[in-house]
Amino acid sequence: MKLVLDPHTHSIASVHAYSTIAENARYSADIGLELIGITDHAPAMPGVNTGRYFFNLRAVPDFLFGVEIMCGAEFNILNFEGEMDIPQEHKETYDIGIASLHRPCIAPGSVEENTAALVNAMKNPHVNIIGHPGEPLYPIDLREVVSSAIREKCVLEINEASLIPGGFRAGGEETIANILKLCKAENYPVVLGSDAHFFTHIGNFENSLRMLEELEFPEKLVLNTSVAFFKEILWRKRK
Ligand SMILES: [Zn+2]
Ligand SMILES: [Zn+2]
Repeated sequence: MKLVLDPHTHSIASVHAYSTIAENARYSADIGLELIGITDHAPAMPGVNTGRYFFNLRAVPDFLFGVEIMCGAEFNILNFEGEMDIPQEHKETYDIGIASLHRPCIAPGSVEENTAALVNAMKNPHVNIIGHPGEPLYPIDLREVVSSAIREKCVLEINEASLIPGGFRAGGEETIANILKLCKAENYPVVLGSDAHFFTHIGNFENSLRMLEELEFPEKLVLNTSVAFFKEILWRKRK
């Protein structure tokens, strides 16, 4: 399976990430990617002060070293009503809007509460990807999350960083596999995201790919295989 894009990477604007947009793009060109998402953490993440950063993202070229740069953000879900820290200075719809649950921004709730947080976030017009769903800290009702994603035109991310053995989100493999099984049964696409916080992690989907293979997950349901397919599915909310 040839993967040509990585929608979820961070730059130094996330503070706990350590590469520039240019370094991310240069490396992505070197490994043959066609598109990357720059999705830095929105302002509620401790240490991040990105309100003005998002305001001027249009200054970033559409292409760097031949790689398409799609600027977006990773929003923090702040409560079970699905409110987020979407920087309002950004006047347009985000090309990539990832909504995620992060420990510093929301304490884990019950299955019902965590599920409500994701489902409510999906209803926001800026959100088109749910980042790292199914991590052990935030148990969710998988059927409800998958059916809501389909209804709200959101894509569920298979997060490589969550599958790295010994990683800080380890232990969610079974849940992530179950998300893939449900999406396969529903014939609904997923997207793989590296969640790279350093450029050398971009485009590395080793553990995700192994899981896709084990589950015989259809290649035609992997958005990373085509830039056109990725955009078509991601931007359905705009229509
Ligand atoms: Zn995240
Ligand atoms: Zn991230």
